[in-house]
Amino acid sequence: MKDLLFSWVERNRDWTLNVLEEYLKIPSVSATGEGIKEAQGFLLNLLNGLGFKTRLIETKGNSLVYAEFIVDETFKTILFYNHYDVQPAEPLDEWISPPFSLTERDGKLFARGASDNKGSLMARIAAIKAFIDEKVQPPVNVKFIIDGEEEIGSPNLSEAVENSKDLLKADLCIWENGSKDEEGRPEMILGCKGIVHAELKAEGGRQDIHSSLGTMIPNPSWRLVWALASLKDKDEKILIDGFYDEVIPLGDEEKEYIRHIPFDAEEKLKLYGLKEFILGLADKRLLLHHLSSPGLNICGLSSGYEGPGHKSIIPKEAWVKLDFRLVPDQKPEDILRRLRAHLDKHGFHDIKIENAGGYPPARTDVNHLFVRLVAEATKEVYGKDPIIYPWMAASGPMYLFTQRMPCVSAGVGNPESNIHSPNESIYIEDLFQGVRHIIQIMIRLRTTTD
Ligand SMILES: [Zn+2]
Repeated sequence: MKDLLFSWVERNRDWTLNVLEEYLKIPSVSATGEGIKEAQGFLLNLLNGLGFKTRLIETKGNSLVYAEFIVDETFKTILFYNHYDVQPAEPLDEWISPPFSLTERDGKLFARGASDNKGSLMARIAAIKAFIDEKVQPPVNVKFIIDGEEEIGSPNLSEAVENSKDLLKADLCIWENGSKDEEGRPEMILGCKGIVHAELKAEGGRQDIHSSLGTMIPNPSWRLVWALASLKDKDEKILIDGFYDEVIPLGDEEKEYIRHIPFDAEEKLKLYGLKEFILGLADKRLLLHHLSSPGLNICGLSSGYEGPGHKSIIPKEAWVKLDFRLVPDQKPEDILRRLRAHLDKHGFHDIKIENAGGYPPARTDVNHLFVRLVAEATKEVYGKDPIIYPWMAASGPMYLFTQRMPCVSAGVGNPESNIHSPNESIYIEDLFQGVRHIIQIMIRLRTTTD
């Protein structure tokens, strides 16, 4: 079965490239709303043509495209999460070829969305067409959920997923995208950190006041600085009561996977122009700390006069923008509640928490049978063991799916794909390897449906 399907991939390279070319022509930029309807129509049409049952899932924003191909109710079901929206192409003058026209150069395909995320979706669709064209019954049921707002933070995804629970039922979710590392090893990401963002605000008088009165009038900048200093010590320990209560220590397997992630601290120092990392850590200990620790970061801090020279005032207000990065099983609502309690306990009743929000971390059991099957399928196609990240340090709405099923990333990117940047690209051969990867994952899952 595999040989027949893999030979389809070779015989139909033009079909795959032509459809991808048409798809990439659509400037589906969620930030501006351009091309959104067109991209929806394109996908509905394409998936309908392949025999999928399709529909739009309406939201307050851009609708999601849903498609399903149910082969046999008793089979396992694979759910592909992708997004049809892209980042704006600006600055346009930095593109060597036009962003919304697929251009081939040096074995690569250039266009906005080539990697993030239209190429990976194309690999998935082509894999299923291989089964259909070769009249091989797909060994799993297939569902697609294709987001139209991923690049603007998927503000409506949570509600849509909640309202479509039955529709989205599946046994395994293949996450939107994936990449090879610098040495061509495929990466498999099984989760991500959560995030809480919040602004703290200290308020003083109605307006800025002469600083000679600083021995009389409380200064909101000091109030905020003292409050901030109470939140974290110099050893990076977050001092909020109960902050670490829900943290699940890494399992032995998770530690083992992290130990196998290639990481060159010296190179990273050069990359960022730094002399040292946090706590003087280096190499594997640094990586372990980085992936396993929750964090509290100051993103922006402002108060009073910031122009040239001096201005003697007590500022009328001070604010800071914070983000917490959460690890399993911390929850945003607990963190915000504890932050409020901490401020109150330390006498900072006057400091307000504003514009707070976020979402929880996502975790897949690294020992799940399907994680092993995908890892095996990956090795079979790429000829190399995948680099497995129990979760990545960045955050995303993956928890919506890991709460319901194991979730694994797969895709056609590479470290120089320039996602979100000018001259985004993928390697042509990575696209076809990506098609074979999905075929192999589907074949592998079949072994569990008997
Ligand atoms: Zn993106």
